Amino acid sequence: MGEFDLIAAYFTRPVRQAALGVGDDCALLAPSPGMQLATSSDMLVEGRHFLSTVQPERLGHKALAVNLSDLAACGARPLAFTLALALPRVDEAFLAGFSRGLLALADAHDCELVGGDTTQGPLNICITVFGEVPPGQALLRSGARAGDDLYVSGTVGDARLALEAFRGQVALPGDAFERTRRAMELPVPRVTLGLALRGLASSAIDVSDGLLGDLGHILRRSGVGATVEVDTLPCSADLAAQPEALRRECGLAGGDDYELLFTAPQTAAARVAAAARECGVPVTRIGRIEASPGLRLGDAHGRPVAHTFGAFDHFKT
Ligand code: ADP
Ligand code: MG
Repeated sequence: MGEFDLIAAYFTRPVRQAALGVGDDCALLAPSPGMQLATSSDMLVEGRHFLSTVQPERLGHKALAVNLSDLAACGARPLAFTLALALPRVDEAFLAGFSRGLLALADAHDCELVGGDTTQGPLNICITVFGEVPPGQALLRSGARAGDDLYVSGTVGDARLALEAFRGQVALPGDAFERTRRAMELPVPRVTLGLALRGLASSAIDVSDGLLGDLGHILRRSGVGATVEVDTLPCSADLAAQPEALRRECGLAGGDDYELLFTAPQTAAARVAAAARECGVPVTRIGRIEASPGLRLGDAHGRPVAHTFGAFDHFKT
């Protein structure tokens, strides 16, 4: 099977909303009149972002999920994406599973595959997503204000717990291992929540590199500080069963969570709770934004908690 047969078999489908899809030199997108185009790219490299043992279907899901998560963090509605793929060889079992997982998530979000590039090389997946957002309504990292509440969606830390289990650092019973592995391999992008937070959240980011590191981006961009109440951090029962140090490490600095971390004025608290309920996504208040710069951690008794967690950095670790 050659390059073009491969594209035709696994990555070409009838066009729906785009003006032109796979097959020409460019795809043509048709955003709704007056909307801004939001775009973002994320690359997944074997050994760096995923383990070679991951099922192809889950890999296809995750490759798009991490990109949709960026649209969610901006409050943008997904429109389309492109897929640049390097494959060591044509492995039809891999391609069938990968495209199934990828396109199932794409369909669930009405996000069309409109083009890409395919080449031979070490397994590498780069997706670029396009979404739309009304001018002035995108959720940015720069809008947090002193006095705002700090929230996170879902739970954090399971992906890191799974990674520690894969590395042999933690022993998890079989079903706990499968659950945390799902969290790592099948993250759920919070697209609906992102849309519901337009006009409500003052700032937002998705948690990809660890909660504290990603919060640091909001604080720097917004010129504010924060206190995080570490004992309020929402985590799964599997993570809750771990010793405190590991629990905090995974929750605060784990990464790969793809939850939304966002701020909102205290006056919006009831509307934030209502938006979360409507989306069926739990949202937890985990701290507050303060005028004094820096990131502080406190426990349930208001005592300071020391920390040295940094954000994940590909060139420092
Ligand atoms: P070009 O030579 O003009 O760069 P290609 O020969 O690389 O075009 O690709 C042919 C068509 O197939 C283009 O429309 C391109 O967008 C599409 N395409 C290539 N790889 C993929 C892929 N992995 N997924 C979706 N579309 C793809
Ligand atoms: Mg090309």
